[in-house]
Amino acid sequence: MNLEIDRGRLISEIEALAAISEADPPAVTRIVFTPTDLKARAWLRAQCEDAGLTLRQDAIGNTFARWNGSDPAVPAVGTGSHIDAIPNAGKYDGVVGVLGGLEAIRALRRSGFRPTNSIELLVFTSEEPTRFGIGCLGSRLLSGSLSAQDAKRLKDSAEKSIEDVRGNAGLRGELDEVKLPDDYYKAFVELHIEQGPVLERQQIPLGVVTSIAAPASMRIAIEGAGGHAGGVLMPDRRDALCAAAELVLAIENAARSSGAVDTVATVGICEVFPGAINSIPSRVRLTADIRDIDLERRDSVIKAMENACSTISAKRKVAIHIELLNADAPAQCAPSVVEALSDACRKHQQKFLAMVSRAYHDSLFMSRIAPTAMLFIPCRNGYSHRPDEYASPEDIARGTLVLAEALATLSA
Ligand SMILES: [Zn+2]
Repeated sequence: MNLEIDRGRLISEIEALAAISEADPPAVTRIVFTPTDLKARAWLRAQCEDAGLTLRQDAIGNTFARWNGSDPAVPAVGTGSHIDAIPNAGKYDGVVGVLGGLEAIRALRRSGFRPTNSIELLVFTSEEPTRFGIGCLGSRLLSGSLSAQDAKRLKDSAEKSIEDVRGNAGLRGELDEVKLPDDYYKAFVELHIEQGPVLERQQIPLGVVTSIAAPASMRIAIEGAGGHAGGVLMPDRRDALCAAAELVLAIENAARSSGAVDTVATVGICEVFPGAINSIPSRVRLTADIRDIDLERRDSVIKAMENACSTISAKRKVAIHIELLNADAPAQCAPSVVEALSDACRKHQQKFLAMVSRAYHDSLFMSRIAPTAMLFIPCRNGYSHRPDEYASPEDIARGTLVLAEALATLSA
């Protein structure tokens, strides 16, 4: 099999898709089900049809483009990612996995390879949480991680329901028909830019992802008592910000002392009320984002945080309320798919690094219904979700080549 990636065509397609954007270049903004997103979807469908793939769309707009294998009775091998982009983002997040996946399929066809298992390009709807406040909407529904009933309750900032929005986008069918059967895919592989600095720093061109970290995120409200900064003496204070300060450090300490580098915890928002120089803070709102690749270890940090809340609340006589926003389980990638990717790297004499995905992806949810792994390529300075996000044509083509090789192994 002589696999050749048409790098020039692939890069020009990435540029063409980047031009379908609400933001001025080089920035890309493509929010799910806006006219821009619909235009991008139509453009992409045309490319898939041009490649001879059979198209199907489900009720939430996940798009499947299939190259039929010689045995229609066996499960398909899937690859893909997303094309939606947060406001003021770059050209490569998600797109590399979609257009790279398409080019991998075209390269396999050109080589004369004929798969036994069908190979399917899957383009997920709304990986980014921009419009409905929840990320990986398409893959959550595909994997049954989000029920149709819960999905129907989602609204955008204009109070438009998901049912209305998808109806306006021309999507028919019922959301409860989106979930895929557990044996639908034999394997799923997602090619993606790393969105971190590890590969570039170590000058290794490829990363084979062995586990995907997942966040638990919480909103924390602390109620103390306000008062005059001069009038209320220290023994009488119930300062909500002082309580918050202790809690922030307790969260940091819980992550630092987990015993693993993969445990991370972040307090990213701290709102102080009333916020005046001469007024004791009566109320504070915090957020916490706690991630790990090990569910038990992550949950032990959450437990430590909850214990700290009880202690601080008793000691400082403040009320602390924790609201859990989401807590997705991390995923271990499937050894069979990790092996196929590693073998493909070796076959093409490419160095690779076995690594953790710190960001989460549609693959996190796909791993619940299919043996799944990811392939990372470097991106400049680790930048992502910004207009200067960049991956070189060489790295994109290399990732696409290894992806094609792995798809061949998995579908042979
Ligand atoms: Zn992405």
